[in-house]
Amino acid sequence: MKNRSLRSAGSKESPIYLDYHATTPCDPRVAEVVKESLLHGIGNPSSPHLIGRLAKKRVDRAREVVARCIGGLAGEITFTGGATESNNLAILGLARANRDGDDGRCRIVTSSIEHKSVVKPADVASRECENLEHKVIPVTENGIVDLRKARELIDDHTILVSVQAVNNELGTIQPVRELAEIAHGRGAIVHCDAAQALGRIPVDVQEWDVDLLSLSAHKAYGPKGIGMLYTAGGRAKYPVLPLMRGGGQEDGLRPGTLNVPGIEGFAEACAIIFREREQEVDRLRNLRDEFEERVLSSVPGAEVVAGSGPRVATTTNIRFAGIEAEALLARLRDVAISTGSACESGAPEPSHVLEAVGLSRTEAYECVRVAVGRFTDKADVQAAARAIAGAVEAVRQVA
Ligand code: PMP
Repeated sequence: MKNRSLRSAGSKESPIYLDYHATTPCDPRVAEVVKESLLHGIGNPSSPHLIGRLAKKRVDRAREVVARCIGGLAGEITFTGGATESNNLAILGLARANRDGDDGRCRIVTSSIEHKSVVKPADVASRECENLEHKVIPVTENGIVDLRKARELIDDHTILVSVQAVNNELGTIQPVRELAEIAHGRGAIVHCDAAQALGRIPVDVQEWDVDLLSLSAHKAYGPKGIGMLYTAGGRAKYPVLPLMRGGGQEDGLRPGTLNVPGIEGFAEACAIIFREREQEVDRLRNLRDEFEERVLSSVPGAEVVAGSGPRVATTTNIRFAGIEAEALLARLRDVAISTGSACESGAPEPSHVLEAVGLSRTEAYECVRVAVGRFTDKADVQAAARAIAGAVEAVRQVA
């Protein structure tokens, strides 16, 4: 299906959007649900009167749908403002609750390619809590967490292991289940940032055996500003302290009036993924592969970064040797792609993810991330590959 709004709502010159890891356009079917909810789901779900109870019913239904999509139960879902908040809640909330813990658990373990919304709370936790240390598992040059190193770093003093399911710059798929097994063998809690996995691979909390899991709706064709934290066995099972204090919503773990339209939109996005993901991924794999083939065959010196490990079907990270990616993007007015995490753009430092897979600083500045998605078609990838080849050529001529 073509999302007309992506092209024609702007102008004919609207760029081809191939930055689906930064965010995904809201699916029009989701937008319809959000609109209906805004207009008719008007109550506060915490109000005891009929209008409030009707809004609560909407939230209850949506919670069931979101839970089912990841193999969980409604009582295990806490709605948040997105994956950043969920990651902070899981990591800081758990560390703070454990601050005075006397069980001797004093280590948080993450991987070297986590998103900043995992890295930073883990660092803050280790500064705030005197006895807590933050250890980082390296990845292989394929961008996959090194399980041998994980076995060394995850010890009997580890309280939490936090690892992403899919990397946002490389698209690499992490061995979450294997890491959960290692962590549980040492009595640690396992958190998974699955923000980039939803819609691309099956997200299954049972199969992965994770205790905590973060999602964000806008990475999966839902609205921005809504996400969730899954807690296996319900909110009370893990000692997680809320980040904010206020009302008793979500059992006090996430106070604040519930975002009913966002929650209903999130549920619709999940329902669509549940029905359509497999077929969609097959189509997108063909598009991504065609894009890669066209670029690699037309641009000398182009190579895929971390391309030989398991990776999602939508994504490629390509290095153009000798070309500064920023200079390339400046010439690419008709294609919306990026050099890496949108949360990092403008940062003077090269991507920590690219350095973690062994690229030098200079090499890390030569990479662009391209991701196809639900509204990409064959003509888009063909035109984008041509435009990129032309832009590389132009930059090389200037140099
Ligand atoms: N984790 C990963 C892997 C991400 O890619 C992102 C978004 N770039 C986030 C977390 C944060 O998600 P949000 O912006 O919805 O808070």
